Amino acid sequence: MLNIVIFGAPGAGKGTQSELIEKRYDLVHLSTGDILRAEIKNGSPLGKQVETVIAGGNLVSDGLIIALLEQEISRHQEAKGFIFDGFPRTQVQAGALDEMLAKHGEKVSIMLALSVEREELIKRLLNRGATSGRADDNIDTIKQRISVYEAQTAPVMEYYKAKNIFAAISNDTTVDECFERVCKAIESVNK
Ligand code: AMP
Repeated sequence: MLNIVIFGAPGAGKGTQSELIEKRYDLVHLSTGDILRAEIKNGSPLGKQVETVIAGGNLVSDGLIIALLEQEISRHQEAKGFIFDGFPRTQVQAGALDEMLAKHGEKVSIMLALSVEREELIKRLLNRGATSGRADDNIDTIKQRISVYEAQTAPVMEYYKAKNIFAAISNDTTVDECFERVCKAIESVNK
């Protein structure tokens, strides 16, 4: 299996690149943010539980998100591999992902860490906010999400660097050019 963790600050292009990877490599795209937003839209108990946390730009609890992801993985027994988009966001989640995959005799193939300058991130997210309808794409919440990323999520990169399954990809460019960089990194592990 090819199991990819796509990583980066909010607005770094994880969702866009994930969709392209999903098509090219025929993988199952699991975006924890998309799954949570669908729960909110459905008005489910889980959605009600996480709505304010997400609108405030903070992280939902590790226990909740780990259980959610575990459920999604077991729903896709036929998958050729996964793209984990927006997960893991903490060290605890990174360890849990390894455990979940190990249960299926699998592991993470590579982390693709997208990077974009802070000012550019804010610009892209504000642009997206004009059409996304997302409660968290406003200037105050964007700043909070970037701070949370820097404090709690960015350190997760060290976990993958230590395992030697880490690729840094600068996304200071077009979608197509970034996808070329992404594919090059994927090909290095998908032989
Ligand atoms: P995203 O669409 O990935 O930007 O996620 C939107 C929001 O969902 C985040 O700001 C968090 O509140 C929540 N969220 C998504 N994934 C996770 C995760 N792995 N851990 C904790 N919270 C998450």
